[in-house]
Parts: sequence; C-alpha cells; structure tokens
Amino acid sequence: MQAKEIWDELQENKVDLVAVTKKRSLEKIHHIYSLGMRHFGENRVQELLSKKDELPDDIQWHQIGHLQRNKVKSIVDFIYLIHSADSFRLVKEINKQAKKIDRKIDILLQFKIAQEDSKYGFEIDKYDEIMGELISKNYTHVNIRGLMGMASLTDNENQIASEFHQLKEIFDECKKKYFSENSNFNILSMGMSSDYHIAIEQGSTMVRIGSALFS
Ligand SMILES: *Cc1c(COP(=O)(O)O)cnc(C)c1O
Repeated sequence: MQAKEIWDELQENKVDLVAVTKKRSLEKIHHIYSLGMRHFGENRVQELLSKKDELPDDIQWHQIGHLQRNKVKSIVDFIYLIHSADSFRLVKEINKQAKKIDRKIDILLQFKIAQEDSKYGFEIDKYDEIMGELISKNYTHVNIRGLMGMASLTDNENQIASEFHQLKEIFDECKKKYFSENSNFNILSMGMSSDYHIAIEQGSTMVRIGSALFS
C-alpha cells in the first residue's frame, strides 16, 4: 500500500499515526509531510534532534525507542509524547527534568508483551503493582497517558493478536482502577508496519509505522 492509502485508512478508522522516520532521508520525510502527517517518531535521541532541526516546526515529535536517562534533558523541552517509559528510574528522571522547565510531559508505560526476550519494558504480570507504585509517587510533571507494547516478531497472527489483546485488557484494567472514565489515560500505542491491522482489531488507538509508509 502507498503512504497515502495507509494515512486515509487510519484517519477513517480514527486511529492516530506516528510516522516512524528513523533512517529515512529528508526528501522522503518531506513527502510524508506533504500528505498531511504531522506526528513523527524516532527511536534514537541523536537522530531525533538532528531531524527536528532540519524539518518544519509544526511537527510533533514522539520518542518511541528506549530512552537513556542522561538523554532526557535534551528532549524534555519539546517532546510531544514518550512511548518508551520503561522503568521507575526513567519516569523519575523525566519528572525531574520536566519540573526544572515547568513543563508537564505526556508518557506511555512500555510493557513487555512479546514472547522473545526483550530488554526493555515493565513486566506485564506485575502491572498492578507497577501502576500502584507510579501513582503513589504523585509525580507533578509527568502525565501517564496510556500504554505501549510490541508484539513478537512472528508470522503467527493468532499469537500477535493474543499479545495485543493482553495489553488492551491491562489498559482497560488500569483505566478502571487508577483513572477516571473521562481521564486522559486514553492512548494505547501498539502496531507497526507488519502488524498494525491486527493491533487495530485489538483496540489500538495509535500505531507507529515506518517501513510501510516509506517503501
Ligand atoms: C522502528 C520502530 C517502529 C516502526 O517499525 P516498522 O516495522 O518500520 O513499521 C515502531 N516502533 C518502534 C519502537 C520502532 O523502533
């Protein structure tokens, strides 16, 4: 599918799109921009900062990959959403840096849902403890907007669907227990080029798509 078709399809389904621009040329990114996309994601801070310098100011930048604590400072003044809040120490650091500049930062908690060993993400089995612990900190400069997860790299669609389904269930549980129905805990970031249709069926509200848009 062409980038424009994907973009139209997502808008029809009211699913938010983060166009993943990592390793893409500025020329190609300008094309995506010209179609109307404004939410762009990068997984490395260095690349994010250099792209941001070269591209229009009305782009909303998303940090989607693992974020080292010592890099938080360099994105905290402009980042739109951090999808990869994957440890207590990182959330604490985001709050600390955000407080210094008096900005409230939107974050998603990244959970491990894949079967393969992934380094980053909170343990899904402990979601209740984790959420309880984070809420109890009363961080003033961090806004927990939802959850993020990545499914296993497999051709088995049933497995992918069940991993996304698990994250959606936990998202609903967390919302019920820790947030009010009309709170802004309302973002479920799941789905990439190869599995975004499955993710949307399972209740994703935001997909992160790179290769399919740029091929
Ligand atoms: C690269 C990346 C994506 C997009 O992957 P594609 O397969 O190119 O769509 C999504 N999420 C994260 C965290 C990524 O690093």
